[in-house]
Amino acid sequence: MTTITKAKNYLNYINGEWMESITQDVRVNENPANRKDIVGSIQLSSAEDTDKAVAAAQKAQKEWRRLSGAARGDYLFKIAHQMELRADEIAKTMTREMGKSLPESKGETMRGIAILRYYAGEGMRKMGDVIPSTDSEALMFTTRVPLGVVGVISPWNFPVAIPIWKMAPALVYGNTVVIKPALDGAITAAKVMECIDEAGLPAGVVNMVTGFGSEVGERIVNHPDVNGITFTGSNATGKRIGQAALARGAKYQLEMGGKNPVIIAADADLEAAVEGTISGGLRSTGQKCTATSRVFVQSEVYEAFKEKLLDKVKQIKIGNGIEEDTWMGPCANENQLNTVLSYIEKGKSEGASLIFGGRRYQDNGLEEGYFVEPTVFEDVTNDMIIAQQEIFGPVLALIKVDTIEEALSLANDVEFGLSASIYTKDIGTMLSFINEMEAGLVRINAETAGVELQAPFGGMKQSSSHSREQGQAAVEFFTSIKTVFVKP
Ligand code: NAD
Repeated sequence: MTTITKAKNYLNYINGEWMESITQDVRVNENPANRKDIVGSIQLSSAEDTDKAVAAAQKAQKEWRRLSGAARGDYLFKIAHQMELRADEIAKTMTREMGKSLPESKGETMRGIAILRYYAGEGMRKMGDVIPSTDSEALMFTTRVPLGVVGVISPWNFPVAIPIWKMAPALVYGNTVVIKPALDGAITAAKVMECIDEAGLPAGVVNMVTGFGSEVGERIVNHPDVNGITFTGSNATGKRIGQAALARGAKYQLEMGGKNPVIIAADADLEAAVEGTISGGLRSTGQKCTATSRVFVQSEVYEAFKEKLLDKVKQIKIGNGIEEDTWMGPCANENQLNTVLSYIEKGKSEGASLIFGGRRYQDNGLEEGYFVEPTVFEDVTNDMIIAQQEIFGPVLALIKVDTIEEALSLANDVEFGLSASIYTKDIGTMLSFINEMEAGLVRINAETAGVELQAPFGGMKQSSSHSREQGQAAVEFFTSIKTVFVKP
């Protein structure tokens, strides 16, 4: 792999201009597949930089909300066009910055473009209802108004799609934006910001400030002029943000972790179930909020399923992401690698049997990266830490069950409720699963990961603040309803 010696310094984007942080402090982002490959540096900004961005967003608000939805949508079409021109560059940056394999990075970039186009069209769709008034001479209806300035705080695991699925609806419904991307995805986010700049959005409509959550993130959350905060990330951070937003009366939306189960029924198509379990659990190195981590298998097919699963897991090619035959890249950073390895140790010490993987991977010239082997445990009980806490790594826990009822009961016995799937041919089993599974996304004969962009997405229980993102559901968070009564 080429080592870049002269890396670019990426700047904040505030009020239509690229600027250094007033701290003059930067962070160097390394490629997690090869620490010697420097992707670039980003600004470690302060609360003062953040204040500048919020002021710019607030100033731009008045004109932006006055535009028609169609005119705002036109800007989203322009951003999509700019991104399409640079899709390969964006995808390669993503792979170098956070380790996702190149086909996955390309897929995510194309998805970001599709989301922009979807919301561009939203600018021309209906925004309210006519409600009959008891006064026969009056007209009563609802319309929707933007919140004002929206703060976007995003994680590193989908550095293009998540910022866009938050920013695109925010913008089309008339809000202006201040975004703080995660440090480990900030250069990729900066590339998206360059496309926004090239699309010619009015100054201040979108602003990006990079830096620590404890500095920039907290300032966004606590700033009195930020009217709404949309957050995706860990539960610990989300809860903090929710409490701070509630305390000052700001609207907030939190999408957080998952501990997603797949149930393999005795009548399942085992080939499909193995494919779905591996893809759902190990793609993106298990670093998806919707990743499969608990695998409940009915005892009749347990041994056959396990054998097929291990056959396929053994074939997984670990690589640096850019190489075409990479199936699984590295963990996104050293901290993430150490967390995954420590969960593997906890699994072993709690008595689960490690049947594949479990070690850091440093073969084939990958010694400078944060790679871990795809890992499979069996003899896992539902009360073990590896069955209860989000690992966010390529670790599958197999749990043998006698009945579907037992599988459902154990699958629900966890604090999270993001996504879940089942493999079965029986319609009755499908319906029980749909009715009883406590998750915001349930999928049948399909992996736990993935949602179509035009459908609502979000979790139940501790996975979410119970609002929904994406599709037309996004209008609920990014606008307020105004009820209008007109007596001529
Ligand atoms: P994280 O919570 O560490 O960080 C998320 C963002 O919050 C980052 O931008 C970070 O800088 C910022 N932040 C940190 N402390 C802050 C503070 N005190 N105030 C304000 N902002 C702060 O999460 P991560 O490690 O980047 O992402 C992984 C997590 O995200 C996993 O738990 C995963 O399940 C979750 N996730 C959820 C979804 C979903 O839609 N439910 C999607 C992707 C990822």
